[in-house]
Amino acid sequence: MSGRTHARARPERMCVGCRERAAKGDLLRIVAIEDACVPDHRGTLPGRGAYVHPALVCLDLAVRRRAFPRALRRRGPLDTAEVRLALEVKQA
Ligand SMILES: [Zn+2]
Repeated sequence: MSGRTHARARPERMCVGCRERAAKGDLLRIVAIEDACVPDHRGTLPGRGAYVHPALVCLDLAVRRRAFPRALRRRGPLDTAEVRLALEVKQA
């Protein structure tokens, strides 16, 4: 048995909220546009992306630890209202 994992075949990303690793497709990509976090549902927006589970608990965790500015290399706070709205719609 080889000790290698099969990480290469399935891209994984870390959720900036709960910090667990998950398949890229199970996470929502977030990009910063001006001073706001925007959900990138198709994964096509340019720039740095942060990944978070599409769940409000993970969003709240990420906001509390200021993970988005860090992950997206922004200095100031980022507005997350649009991401929250997208997740609330999804869970409604
Ligand atoms: Zn998470």
